[in-house]
Amino acid sequence: MDLLKKRIEEEGKVIGNNILKVDNFLNHQIDVELFIEMGKEFKNRFAGEKVDKIITIEASGIAIAFATAQAFGNVPVVFAKKQEAGNLSGDVYSSNVFSFTKNKEYVVRVDKKYINKGERVLIIDDFLANGQAALGLMDIIDQAGALAVGAGIVIEKGFQDGKKLLLEKNLKVESLAIIKEFSDNKVIFGQ
Ligand code: 5GP
Repeated sequence: MDLLKKRIEEEGKVIGNNILKVDNFLNHQIDVELFIEMGKEFKNRFAGEKVDKIITIEASGIAIAFATAQAFGNVPVVFAKKQEAGNLSGDVYSSNVFSFTKNKEYVVRVDKKYINKGERVLIIDDFLANGQAALGLMDIIDQAGALAVGAGIVIEKGFQDGKKLLLEKNLKVESLAIIKEFSDNKVIFGQ
């Protein structure tokens, strides 16, 4: 998606060897107009797929999941929680996720009442790195007896294993921008 790639080129900051910081429009401040366009683009990429619900992980996935849900006719958005909260019933699906950016494992939880057997669920997230967040969501979808129809990713880092692992699970993956590499602190896009 050219509009997104332009923003990454102009505003993205490469941190170390493999982290991209895009706080300006994606992870700290949200560019609403861009998000609405990205939501429509996900709808195009998954055209023809029946989607009952969208799932993501708090916090960075929520806004893009919301924009995508609007393009899909206001389907519900469910976001997996990372903290054990008093207001979450004990009856949850949970999965362990190793965080790429924080270098530690955490648990994601979804209340059983929010994913039902047979539902067709689209995974949406801001980044795809090693695929652990998306695999955790797939695990929760599986536990519920629902079906993962695909993963829509804003920025895929194509030099990491995530896409490969999701494709091995027969999940359709659509990324709006694919980064081939970082070179001299610049982003090089690929396919
Ligand atoms: P994965 O589970 O695919 O290894 O990593 C995906 C999650 O890690 C995303 O939900 C995102 O929050 C975070 N993440 C991974 N790589 C980056 C990155 O380069 N920049 C930012 N801002 N977040 C990232």
